[in-house]
Amino acid sequence: MAHIAFFSVAAHGHISPTLGVVAELTARGHQVTYFTTGAFEERLTRLGATVCRYDTAPSPNQSPAAFASGDLSALPLFFLHSAAERVALAEKWFGDERPEAIVYDNTAPFAGRALARRWGCRAVQFFPSLASGRGYALMDAMLERTGRSPEHDAHTAEFDRRLAGFLAGAGLPGLGTEEFMDFEEELNLAFLPREFQPAADTFGPHHRFVGPSLGGRDDEGTWRRPPGGGPVAYVSLGTVFNRSADFYRRCAEAFDGSEFSVVMSVGEGTDPASLGPLPAQVEVHRTVPQLSVLAQADVFVTHGGMGSTMEALASATPMVVVPQMVEQEVIADRVAALHLGVRLDPDAGPAALLAAAREAVTDRRIGDSTARMRRCAQEAGGARAAADAVEGQLRNGAEGASGQ
Ligand code: UDP
Repeated sequence: MAHIAFFSVAAHGHISPTLGVVAELTARGHQVTYFTTGAFEERLTRLGATVCRYDTAPSPNQSPAAFASGDLSALPLFFLHSAAERVALAEKWFGDERPEAIVYDNTAPFAGRALARRWGCRAVQFFPSLASGRGYALMDAMLERTGRSPEHDAHTAEFDRRLAGFLAGAGLPGLGTEEFMDFEEELNLAFLPREFQPAADTFGPHHRFVGPSLGGRDDEGTWRRPPGGGPVAYVSLGTVFNRSADFYRRCAEAFDGSEFSVVMSVGEGTDPASLGPLPAQVEVHRTVPQLSVLAQADVFVTHGGMGSTMEALASATPMVVVPQMVEQEVIADRVAALHLGVRLDPDAGPAALLAAAREAVTDRRIGDSTARMRRCAQEAGGARAAADAVEGQLRNGAEGASGQ
């Protein structure tokens, strides 16, 4: 059995799709060490992983807020910020007992990708959002929408300078920054059905589209649909760009007196009481067991985070996507183009919200498309297929080593 290290971004949208893969791998007898923050320690430990904990150091002048405000060029710097510390931590943690494989998140690939090169072990890259490759790059799709900020060139130059420093510090001084950033592994896992991926035919066999990866979340509990026969609308802006009391109030107003019951997840940062008095048919929580809610909801009013979107596909729940930032706009357009739901602007009023929810629930074409996409999602194999593919890489590695 092998030892496998996971490097991801410590945020729900990045950790969630890996939980099922970790659960599969530990159930098959592999040892998993997961590098993340204390916020995810209990969940991962319960799945049989060992957690190597770190604290997220504040990154000067850069934050995910830069992402929301449209300056994408700040983002690589933000994610590179703690990469050297993560490499040092991993070196210390493993000593001479290095893992056979590293699974790392493409959003912040630096530590995982560098360590795999340095240690000469198998590496698997995963995409928590849309996949990128030679024929399609999510970053380019986002830049097409935002345009380049005035700081773009300065940020890019600074990033190249710091990445070169990082690579030298990680013992990989000969590796060019461009070469490092363009790297594709032998296995690149995408947690979406191939049918959802833009420019899907440009991706070759090294990209595996395993579909929504939903396992490892049994601890979340269940939600019960309220009594009564009307449809249920589930409203959530996810776990990051979700501090929008105004949006939640607009949703409550939209569905007030309608045929819908509403369940809302407003996130840890919003006090449900701060929304003021709400109609009786609206229940509000800071967080809900989303998979259980989606299994019972008739429509999902969502920000279009990739995790939420894939979870909606897996349960064939039609969506009203109200994107909060540019990556979600790309996903929202994909949802609309594939007739999986309706896209609205973030400032949509109550009447538009109600009309969109009704359209999503009743439109035949949307119903057919969500049913078809659920079949695609099931056939893609999910967390089990991802674990099979990781094991395939381990076998290739073992054969390569014995053939040397
Ligand atoms: N989530 C949840 N309960 C909630 C809200 C969100 O379990 O009340 C989970 C959701 O199922 C998904 C993740 O948090 O797996 C959010 O990821 P997504 O990519 O949709 O959005 P982000 O939070 O990263 O913007």
